[in-house]
Amino acid sequence: MTTTPSSTALQREAKRPASPIPAPEPELTAGEDIASIGEAREAALGCRRCPLWRDATQTVFGEGPENADAIFVGEQPGDQEDLAGKPFVGPAGKMFDSILDDAEIDRRKVYVTNAVKHFKFEPRGKRRIHSKPNAGEIQACRWWLDKELDLIKPKLVVALGATAAQSLLGKAVPITRMRGDVIQREDGLRVFVTIHPSFILRIREREDKEAERERFLKDMLKVKQLMAA
Ligand code: SF4
Repeated sequence: MTTTPSSTALQREAKRPASPIPAPEPELTAGEDIASIGEAREAALGCRRCPLWRDATQTVFGEGPENADAIFVGEQPGDQEDLAGKPFVGPAGKMFDSILDDAEIDRRKVYVTNAVKHFKFEPRGKRRIHSKPNAGEIQACRWWLDKELDLIKPKLVVALGATAAQSLLGKAVPITRMRGDVIQREDGLRVFVTIHPSFILRIREREDKEAERERFLKDMLKVKQLMAA
């Protein structure tokens, strides 16, 4: 029996780069020659530091101004981000945008990125189901997050969820207990810890969802104050 590819599968195929991603330039991935976010983004296209590049469509690097006061760090790109090549454009990204809007934080003035820059998933039928990056993958991709921090030198970094907090603080962190805390790293960088917006999307009860959205909004209002400090 002949099967016809689904429109989603065709869409993915159409957006997949036509030729294999070129191998990284050794001198660029060595790090010392990367002088801008643009150069880092380009170098990361060929990253092979962990196996996640094999099944994903493309590297999804951070976005935002190089002089941003704050960097928001999520976990990893999702299905839609993987196809678009942009961070925070899927359902969680839209929720994040609307809450930033309510907090009057201009997303165009902040930098958004992920701790891990390739989409990790399990294929299930036609769907690709999000799979949590492991400690080795988080550690491997920290090289790129450190590069973003070095180049942007933000006043504040916001860890959205456990993976981001683990990458930024170098150890597993209990998010429920530390939510709302500001942790100062040895290098002086302040890290604000909160949940990932996808957590709100996963709540089924409408009232609970609304309550969690309000709580996240309060976190963002605190972030806004910290950005101004
Ligand atoms: S997930 Fe990060 S470290 Fe792994 S291949 Fe992608 S860019 Fe490189």
